[in-house]
Amino acid sequence: MAVLDPRRFFSPAQRQVLFELAQGRCQGCSAELLEGWHADHRIPWVDGGPTSIENGQALCDACNHEKGRQMQFRDDFVPRPFQAEVANQVLERLRAGLDRTTVLATPGSGKTLAYQSLATRLYREGLITYVAVFVPRIALAEQCETGWMYTGAAGETRGLCLLFDAAKRIGMIRHRTNEAPLTFPSQHGSGFVATYSALVTNESLYLNWAKINEGRFLLVADEAQFCGEGNDTDNGGTRAGELIKRMHDHARHTLLLTGTPYRADNARLILADYEPDPANPKRLKLVHHAEASYADGIAEGYLRKFELTRTDARISRRTLGEDDGRGESLLEYNLSDDGSDLVPVLRDPQTWKPLVDRVVAAVKDK
Ligand SMILES: [Zn+2]
Repeated sequence: MAVLDPRRFFSPAQRQVLFELAQGRCQGCSAELLEGWHADHRIPWVDGGPTSIENGQALCDACNHEKGRQMQFRDDFVPRPFQAEVANQVLERLRAGLDRTTVLATPGSGKTLAYQSLATRLYREGLITYVAVFVPRIALAEQCETGWMYTGAAGETRGLCLLFDAAKRIGMIRHRTNEAPLTFPSQHGSGFVATYSALVTNESLYLNWAKINEGRFLLVADEAQFCGEGNDTDNGGTRAGELIKRMHDHARHTLLLTGTPYRADNARLILADYEPDPANPKRLKLVHHAEASYADGIAEGYLRKFELTRTDARISRRTLGEDDGRGESLLEYNLSDDGSDLVPVLRDPQTWKPLVDRVVAAVKDK
């Protein structure tokens, strides 16, 4: 196996020398080098090519793309714009020497596959060996594990990993609670997924793993709004946030995925940056580097518009008063006709919530 130069990217000084050696022209096609030209390894870094002037060359965007294409894997994966944006941002920020990327992603945006495909890309480029994922709920951990890769009844490999060239892709992302090992040294290009509460319960298991794999893993904090900075004590949020920060100290790069720019208690997200919000001077705004909004999801066709079909109906709501009947009231809403009563019904959760609960219960029964 090739011994890798610990430095993956050319320094600004090296780039300057490469530019001068190339006399400002692409060493592939002689086109003038524009801003954003690529300092390229002649012998690929993943094959042991050092990050040195001797092994470097200046390439224009087109030539670099062409060279990359020849090394590309045969994937069936076509990323959504949001997923491509996440991968591009992380790679760009890694190249700039930054250690974290913050992404705003609503449920349904395909964020799980976004980080799984990102991990595959980083692994292929020799940037990581493992991926470590933390999620707030066991159901999410199980989805991450089996959604990516599992073994079918006949021993065959199944899951979304099949979208990626088997020649090199991230393997099993095992759901781990408190059992060691989290990953197997013999299985490069794999990972684990655990809940924040497992992290809090077994912190030494995870922190030791992070130390052993210093600089060799992508850390993913999914629904990172569970990781607040500050002094709130409910549901272990702050403790998980503290531990994610310590995991991050050992990671190659950390991807924070959050569904909201704020936590319910207004505490800041760990590792995130904030800036003044021109729309609201009293608040600070989360700085994020990629975003999948609900509107994007609809525009790109992967989320459905919220639809409500109104049928003829009457709703009555009875408020119970004291024992003597005082304070008792009966409200009647007519949802037929012009539907003007719909607004007060939708505005008052005490009126519509029992209806929704009953529908959900009925669907569950079915
Ligand atoms: Zn060129």
